[in-house]
Amino acid sequence: MTTDTCTYLIVGGGIAGVSCAQQLSFEEPSEDIVLVSAGSMVLQTTAVQVTRLAHELQVQEVSGHQLTDLCPGLRLKQATATRLDAKDKVLHLSDGSSVRYGRLCICTGGRPRLPLPDHPAVIGIRDGHSVDELVRRLGPARRVLIVGNGGIASELVFTLKDVDVTWVIRDGSISATFVDPGAAEFLLPRLESRDQQPPAGDPTVAVPAPPSKRWRYHASDPPSSEAGQGDPAVPGSALGPDWLQRLQARGAGKGRVTVKYKTELRRLVDRPSDSDDSENWPVYAELTSGETIGCDFIVSATGVLPNTEPFTEGTSLRLAADGGILVDDHMRTHEADVYAAGDACSPDWELAPHWFQMRLWSQARQMGLYAAKCMSADRLGVPLLQDFCFEMFAHVTRLLGHKLILLGLFNGQRLGTDYTALIRMTPGVEFIKVVLRDGKVQGALLLGDTDLEETFENLILSQMDVSHLGDDLLSPDVDIEDYFD
Ligand code: FAD
Repeated sequence: MTTDTCTYLIVGGGIAGVSCAQQLSFEEPSEDIVLVSAGSMVLQTTAVQVTRLAHELQVQEVSGHQLTDLCPGLRLKQATATRLDAKDKVLHLSDGSSVRYGRLCICTGGRPRLPLPDHPAVIGIRDGHSVDELVRRLGPARRVLIVGNGGIASELVFTLKDVDVTWVIRDGSISATFVDPGAAEFLLPRLESRDQQPPAGDPTVAVPAPPSKRWRYHASDPPSSEAGQGDPAVPGSALGPDWLQRLQARGAGKGRVTVKYKTELRRLVDRPSDSDDSENWPVYAELTSGETIGCDFIVSATGVLPNTEPFTEGTSLRLAADGGILVDDHMRTHEADVYAAGDACSPDWELAPHWFQMRLWSQARQMGLYAAKCMSADRLGVPLLQDFCFEMFAHVTRLLGHKLILLGLFNGQRLGTDYTALIRMTPGVEFIKVVLRDGKVQGALLLGDTDLEETFENLILSQMDVSHLGDDLLSPDVDIEDYFD
C-alpha cells in the first residue's frame, strides 16, 4: 500500500472542492496540494459580478488535466475516500492507497434525499449519471411524477415539454423554496406557455408595461386573494445551471402539467382495482391526499443529504441536525486540521442577521474559496477575518425562464411574522418583493430584469431607515437609485 504526502488535501471535485483547490494553489503555489475526486471530470465555475456580493455563475465540467495545468502545485487523484484516520492525519482511498495530509478539507457534497428507499421507479436528480438515466427513461415516457418544490423540480417541470407531468408539492404554491405565493402566481402562466420565451429581457419588448399591481402586506396577514395563493455507486458532482441542456430528449406525452398542492408521496402501490384510468402504468404512487396516480417513473428532487460517511467513524467530527459537518467561522470541523465546505457542511457560528445557509452553487463556491484562505492563514499563523460574503445572503439564478436575484432575508426567513412586504408586479415582466422591518430593508426578491439589485443590496447592508418613503420605495415614478446616491 502506498502513502502519499501533501500539505493540503481536498476531497471532492464539485464546486466547493475545486474552488478550494484553485484558491490554495493561488495562495501557496509552491506547496503540495492534492485533490481527490471520484470522477475524472471536475466542476469549474466562472463568476460574473452582479453586485458586490451577488455573482452570476457559469458552471463547466472540465477534465482534471485542464484544472491541474492552470494550478501550480495541484495534483489530482482519481479515487474515492473510504476512511479518515484523523489521529494520524491519513485519508484512505478506494484504490488501496492513502494520503497523509497537513490540512484536509472535506467537500463531498450531498446525495438526493429519496422519498422511497432505493426503488427502481424513483430517480433522484443529483449528478450526470442521474440526468443520463432521466434522459434514457424520458424517451418513451407518457407521464412523469415529479416530487419536490425547489429550484430543481421547478426547472424540470418547466423544461419537460412533451411529457405529461404531475407535480407533487408539499406547499400551497409552486417553487416555494425560492418564492412566496405572490411570486408563484406571477410564474404560473409560464408553466402554461412553456414553449414561449419569457417576455422579460425580450428585446422586442421595448417599454415594459406599467405595473398593474402594487401592494403591501404584513407577514401575519394571510396572502390576499390578489397576491394569490463515472461509477454510478459514487455520487458525482451536483449539477450546475447547465444540466437542463442535457434534457434534449422529449417524452411521448401531451405536455400537460397538473400541480398537486399540499401533497406528498406516501408509497408505491399496485394498480387500484377501482381505477378509472384506461391506461396501464409501470408504477402507481399513492399520495397523502389518498389519490393514486399511475406514471412511467418518479423523479425526486427533494433536497440532499450531506455525504459524510467515510469521515465520521472514529473521529471527533460533529454533525448538524440536517446531517452536515459542523464548521466554525473558519470552516474548521471539531477535528484538528480538518475543514469542510459546500453542501457537505453546516455552519456553526453566530450568523450575520442577513445571511443563512442554502445549499446552492453560489455558497459552495464562497465556502470553498474561504476554506482555502482559512487553511492557509491557519498554517501560516496569520489572522484572517471572516469573508464579507457571509454578511448577507445573495444568489443569482433563473427560474422558469426569468432572472431571479435573491438578497438577504428575501422570504422573511428568521423574522417570524414581524415584517412587512412591499410588492410590485407587472405580469409577465417583473415581480419585486421587498421585506421591511422597523422601516429598514431586510431582504429583496427580484424576478425579471429589474436593475434594482445594487440599490437593495446597499439598503440591506446599510440598514438605512426608508420609512419616510412609504410605498414610494417601489414606485416606478421614483428613481430610488438616484435617491440613495
Ligand atoms: P458537489 O457538487 O455534490 O460535489 C461533491 C463532490 O464530491 C463530487 O465530485 C463527488 O463525486 C465527490 N465525492 C463524494 N463522495 C466522495 C468520496 N467519498 N470520495 C471522493 N469524492 C467524493 N444550485 C444553484 O445555485 N443553482 C442551480 O441552478 C442549481 N441547480 C441544481 C441542479 C441539480 C440537478 C442539482 C442536483 C443541484 C443544483 N444546485 C443548484 C445545487 C448545487 O449544484 C450544489 O449546491 C453545489 O453544486 C454543491 O457543491 P459541492 O461542491 O458542495 O458538492
